[in-house]
Amino acid sequence: MDDCLFCKIAAGQIPSNKLYEDDQLLAFYDIDPQAPTHFLVIPKQHIDSAAALTESDAALLGHIYAVIADLCRQLGVAENGYRVVTNVGADGGQSVKHLHFHVLAGRSLAWPPG
Ligand code: AMP
Ligand code: ZN
Repeated sequence: MDDCLFCKIAAGQIPSNKLYEDDQLLAFYDIDPQAPTHFLVIPKQHIDSAAALTESDAALLGHIYAVIADLCRQLGVAENGYRVVTNVGADGGQSVKHLHFHVLAGRSLAWPPG
């Protein structure tokens, strides 16, 4: 999608600190980390947010969560635990309108979120 920051990162037009990539998704470190480990996982195809997901995205979502679990094991944060968050819309705190999953780890995270 033209003028979408994460589409440009997925296409390699804007650099990122990449953790993992395959044909369907990209994982890269957040530029403004909110925890000792904070990375984002995005589908390469443009999807506005989790609100735009349909049943046909089930395989993609399963793949995203499986990759997150693998990466967390590799990074050594799986045992202590981590949080996966996707913000939707204005009240959800979504600033980039391309579906992304935040993965936060490395400290005890407060609940409920602010
Ligand atoms: P959200 O507010 O849920 O839409 O999350 C967007 C996230 O993207 C924020 O945590 C930003 O710090 C992060 N972000 C914005 N631009 C970049 C970038 N160029 N590289 C990595 N992360 C970014
Ligand atoms: Zn996009």
